[in-house]
Amino acid sequence: MFLVLLLGAAATSGCDSRTEHVLAGRTMGTTYTVKLVGRPWSATESLKKKIDRRLEELNRIFSPYRADSEISRFNRFAVAGEAFSVSADFRRVFEVSLQVYGWSRGAFDPTVGPLVDLWGFGRGPARRAPPAEEEIAAARAAIGLSRIALRGEQGLMKEDPGVTLDFSAIAKGYGVDEVARLLREAGWRDFLVEIGGEVYASGRRADGSLWRIGIARPESRARPEEVHRVVALRDAALATSGDYRQFFLFEGRRHSHIIDPTTGRPVANGVVSATVLAPDCTTADALATAVMVLGAEEGLALLERLERIEGLLVVETDTGGFLDRPTSGFPQAEGVPLIDSKRPPP
Ligand code: ADP
Ligand code: MG
Repeated sequence: MFLVLLLGAAATSGCDSRTEHVLAGRTMGTTYTVKLVGRPWSATESLKKKIDRRLEELNRIFSPYRADSEISRFNRFAVAGEAFSVSADFRRVFEVSLQVYGWSRGAFDPTVGPLVDLWGFGRGPARRAPPAEEEIAAARAAIGLSRIALRGEQGLMKEDPGVTLDFSAIAKGYGVDEVARLLREAGWRDFLVEIGGEVYASGRRADGSLWRIGIARPESRARPEEVHRVVALRDAALATSGDYRQFFLFEGRRHSHIIDPTTGRPVANGVVSATVLAPDCTTADALATAVMVLGAEEGLALLERLERIEGLLVVETDTGGFLDRPTSGFPQAEGVPLIDSKRPPP
């Protein structure tokens, strides 16, 4: 949601007639862009169909807005102690969620849906003031990813019939990884995939330069294309989460759509945006949300502890300015490839 693609034309050299093809469409309630480097006459029509088909498949699994999606059916399944059979995609997203839930000690928790709804950022009416304490306490009672367990290859079991899943903070990242996988399997090496601002960049642009992604200026008044900082990416994913586009003001304070599961309230720790760089976009997306909740100190400590993962937090200062808090390995200057991994992402 908070990354800006810098897709200015890349000059192609005369002898190597490679060009950049752009495919774009809508998915997951937002837009997607795919950039591919190849021969000018490459057949990209059928590829676009494949991408759209795969994304439609993922929407049928993860969309909370479709009553017949797999996740909606799972959420209606109010039986404790009995396995609900899920697809391989659902299981993979659940597994990464469990991992990030563990790493962040519950800061990233895809069972927060009832709180998101209560605070007016999900289903139900928007709000101009916080809900009552009793309502928050009641919604909190149904929350906790540890209340859902894996059973065998394909089963998920609720330990509490009221627990539900909301993969909004991770599904776009997974969609990016799946489109990237599809492109790789079709033989493409140099490409960029973006869904709603979450990105994976593979190889290089047509002119040999690195893909460059802008981190949006973390201000509600900023235009969406205003860039705070530019990151060069190669064979890596970048995801950003922020509190300045979806929020309401109450008593002069911002109440955003990112909820701290331990307090049951919108985060209020001074971090206005969290960007995470990782080998895959599923992990980057979930971690960006986790770090928003953890705050600057704990968030940076977590990112430093994780291998091949870097990040940049933007923190609001007392005087209303912004302070960049990068991890030690976050690219200092534009043009420096950060993760130049030889290994393919998991
Ligand atoms: P965006 O969707 O704007 O890119 P995120 O990836 O951070 O941003 O996802 C935010 C969404 O995730 C919220 O709208 C809400 O549905 C859900 N969410 C809110 N708080 C949490 C949390 N602590 N853990 C997991 N998901 C959350
Ligand atoms: Mg996220």
